[in-house]
Amino acid sequence: MVASAYLGLPLSLQGVGSVLSLDKQKLSEGKDLIKYFCVPCTPTKSNGGRTRNLPMHDSKKWCEFKKYNLRHIGVDVYFEEQNIHTISSDGELMITILASYAQEESRQVSENMKWRIRKNFEEGKTWNSVIYGYSYDDGIFKIIPHEAHVVRLIYDYYLSGMGVGAVTKKINEEGYLTRKNKKWNKSSVRYILTNYNYTGNLILQKTYTENHLTKKKKLNNGYLPKYHVKESHEAIVSVSEYRKVQEELKKRDSLSGKRRSPKKYPFTGMIVCDKCGTNYRRKTTPYKHVWQCNNHIENGKVACDAKQVPEEILFEVSTDILELEEFNEDTFKKNISSIKACDNNELVFTLNDETEVIKKWQNKPRSESWTKEKRELARLRELKRRGEINGKNYSNSTNN
Ligand SMILES: [Zn+2]
Repeated sequence: MVASAYLGLPLSLQGVGSVLSLDKQKLSEGKDLIKYFCVPCTPTKSNGGRTRNLPMHDSKKWCEFKKYNLRHIGVDVYFEEQNIHTISSDGELMITILASYAQEESRQVSENMKWRIRKNFEEGKTWNSVIYGYSYDDGIFKIIPHEAHVVRLIYDYYLSGMGVGAVTKKINEEGYLTRKNKKWNKSSVRYILTNYNYTGNLILQKTYTENHLTKKKKLNNGYLPKYHVKESHEAIVSVSEYRKVQEELKKRDSLSGKRRSPKKYPFTGMIVCDKCGTNYRRKTTPYKHVWQCNNHIENGKVACDAKQVPEEILFEVSTDILELEEFNEDTFKKNISSIKACDNNELVFTLNDETEVIKKWQNKPRSESWTKEKRELARLRELKRRGEINGKNYSNSTNN
């Protein structure tokens, strides 16, 4: 990686030059040199069919190039990883520069794409242009009457006091289908109810792609500009109706207490069954918490005969792998990407750097995991189950 990138300066030498406001003549002089050494050249007969100019191909220019970097720009471009300075006479220098430019290419392409998409956004063109109710043709949204009718119905029904579930049921009963000719479900109805585009206005760049390497889609909470395009197309619902629906959704959500995310444990979504690929789920038995393949819990042993793993084992083994004194959820999440539960009491931990650690665990002897009190309680419960003692004795005994 080039040092100027760390400094937040443009990545090309010419860019460095222009930021440092060099005069035009020096810039173009430098530009030619940069082009000669840093950009692939056309293979010709006279240059022996080469695609790159290296220092040995023109030692005079190479000297000028080095001088340009040092004298005219006054910047020593330093390759931190390789520990090489542009002003050094290291013979491998140019190759290093060329290699780093190749790496830059991927980033540049991605930047160009992003710029073009943002430009389109500014002009009111969406990137993802599939909206139920509209057709999208060359940057213009046009109402599809029968779809727009369903959108209207959904808003009307909801504002008449029906819940999302009831609205869904009603439009399905009335025979309306989605664009893919499927029945409506609650989340697709909810999506319609929360889509601002139906007001005839657009908010663009609601999401963005994180970077050229991860390509993760993220919600844009002010990280990049959002573009609000007024009256960009024909409205299906009014802005005030849309607002009313949003308020109503919020109000009813908080009343019902629904849509609160379900309780999450450190191992939620982390453990995968080696036998059937289903996630493990937490289960509470009378004496302890265990994790078991959800396929097994839902469909029984016939579907998957994977064994359960006691939660205390998971805590213990994780703590052990992370070399911690005691379990820490943050450290756990930061370092471990998944756990595979295998036969023979084996747990395969995949760390975030892709390395795997295999741990074999043993069922604890009862004396360790069961305290004296727990054992006594279990004994009494069993007796009670068999009807050998009555409830009164039971509670008396446990109070001792
Ligand atoms: Zn399973």
